[in-house]
Amino acid sequence: MEKIANYINGVYTPPLSNAYLDNINPAIAEVYSLIPDSDEGDVEVAVQAAQNAFENWSTMSVHKRSNILLKVAQLIEDKLQAFAEAESIDNGKPVWLAKTVDIPRAAANFRHYATAALHLHTETHAMELTALNYTLRQPIGVVGCISPWNLPLYLFTWKIAPALAAGNCVVAKPSEITPNTAFMLAQCCIDAGMPAGVLNIVHGLGPKVGQAIAAHKNIPVISFTGGTQTGATIASIAAPMFKKMSLELGGKNPNIIFADCDFEHALATTVKSSFSNQGEICLCGSRIFVERPIYEKFKQGFVAATKALKVGDPQQDNFMGAIVSEMHYHKILSYIQLATEEGGTILTGGRAIKPEGRCANGYFIEPTIIEGLSYNCRTNMEEIFGPVVTIMPFDTEAEVLQYANATKYGLAATVWTTNLNKAHRVAALLHSGIIWINCWLLRDLRTLFGGMKNSGLGREGGFEALHFFTEEKNVCIKF
Ligand code: NAD
Repeated sequence: MEKIANYINGVYTPPLSNAYLDNINPAIAEVYSLIPDSDEGDVEVAVQAAQNAFENWSTMSVHKRSNILLKVAQLIEDKLQAFAEAESIDNGKPVWLAKTVDIPRAAANFRHYATAALHLHTETHAMELTALNYTLRQPIGVVGCISPWNLPLYLFTWKIAPALAAGNCVVAKPSEITPNTAFMLAQCCIDAGMPAGVLNIVHGLGPKVGQAIAAHKNIPVISFTGGTQTGATIASIAAPMFKKMSLELGGKNPNIIFADCDFEHALATTVKSSFSNQGEICLCGSRIFVERPIYEKFKQGFVAATKALKVGDPQQDNFMGAIVSEMHYHKILSYIQLATEEGGTILTGGRAIKPEGRCANGYFIEPTIIEGLSYNCRTNMEEIFGPVVTIMPFDTEAEVLQYANATKYGLAATVWTTNLNKAHRVAALLHSGIIWINCWLLRDLRTLFGGMKNSGLGREGGFEALHFFTEEKNVCIKF
C-alpha cells in the first residue's frame, strides 16, 4: 500500500515515529494509502529546516522567487488529471469538479501571488522639510498553515502561496482526511527548483501536528482554515504568545431570494449553491429564504431540479459524489434526524444512498431540502456542512434580515433581486464578510475573503494576504 511521506528540508521523509494512519477512499469505504502519524518531533525538524532556509529565501530577488512559484503553478497544471483524480479519491468529490474547480484554482493561487508580490509596494510620508517616513514591509520568518478537507489543494495553496511569495518559509499541515494532493504538491516544488526548507509539509492529526504548529515558539504567524471550535482552540494557544493569526472558520450562510429576482437564474444557481461539492463548501447557502409571492413556485422548481441531480461514483458523470468520511456522513444524517424532530418536513432527499457497483459501501447522501422549521431552531443555527438545506418564506426585508443575521456565523450571503437600491441596502445590512448579489462563488482573487462573528478573524485574498504575511516597520529620517 502506498505510504505518503512528509516533505521536510526539500526531501520526502518518513515520520520519526514510523507510525502511520489509514487513508480512506470514502466512495468505496476502503483504506487505500497510509498517512504519516507525525508528532511534535517532526514539526521541530520542519521548523529548523524552515529557519535555515529563511535568510536565502527572504533576501532572494522577488523576480527569482516569483519565477519559482510560477513554475509550481505550471507543474500543477501539467498534472491536472492526476491531481484531480487524487483529490476525488481522497475527498469523494467528482473528478470533473476537481478538474474544473479545485486544481485550476490551486495553480491560480500560485500564479496570482507569484505576480502580486512583484507589485507589493509601501508608502512614504513626507514631513515638509523636516523628515521623511517610509514603511518597510518585511517577511516575518516561519509561517504555520493549517487547512481543512473540503477543498484540499485549493485551500492549502491559498495560504502557502501568499506566505511564500511574501518571502516567508512555511510549515504546513493539510487535513489528515485528504493528504494526497499536498503530498503530490511537494514533488512540484522539488521540480520547480524551490530551495530546500522553504516549504515543509508535515502530515498527521490535528491535536498532534496542528497543535504543535500552533504552539511552536518559532512560528510567529498562524494561518488556519477549518471549524470554529478548532479555531478557538488554536486562538487559545496562539493569542497568549502574541502570534499573528488569520482564522477562516465555519458558516451557516443565508440565500435570500426576492420576488423580483431573475427567477430561472436564481433557481439554477441555488441548486449549485446548495449542493455543489456535496454541500461541503463553507460558502454554500444552507438557509434559503424566499419572498412569499414566489415561494410555492420557487419551492416546486427547486425540489424538481434537486430530484434530478445525479449522485454516485465520483469517477463518473455525477453531480454529487461521496461524503468525505464515515464520521461526517453520520453527523449529516444525525442533523437530518434532528430536523424532523424539530418539526421539519423533508421535501426531497433525507436518506443515505447505496449506489450499485463499486461504490455500494460508500458514504453517499441524497440532496435534501427541509421545510417548516423556525428560523432559530438548531437545524437553522448550527453548521451541517453537507447536502442539506432548509427553505422558508418571508414577507418583508426587515424580517429576512433578522432571519439571515440570527446565527453566530457571518461568512457569506447570497441575495437575488433586480432592484438595485434593495441590493445595495440589503448588502450593507447583512452581517457577512462576503456578499454575492445575483451570483454565487464568483471570485476575483484580488478581493478580500473572510467572515465576521464566529466565521473568522482577518481577511485573506488580494494584497491583504501579502500584508498579513509581512511585518510593517516605519523608518523616520530627519534631515
Ligand atoms: P477541522 O477544524 O476539524 O480541521 C481543520 C484542520 O485543523 C485540519 O488540518 C485538522 O487536522 C486541524 N486541527 C484539528 N484539531 C486541531 C488542533 N487542536 N490544533 C491545530 N490543528 C487542528 O475542520 P474540517 O472538518 O477539516 O473542515 C470543515 C470546517 O472548515 C467547516 O467548519 C467549514 O465551514 C470550515 N471551512 C471554512 C472555510 C473558510 O474559508 N471560512 C473554508 C473551508 C472550510
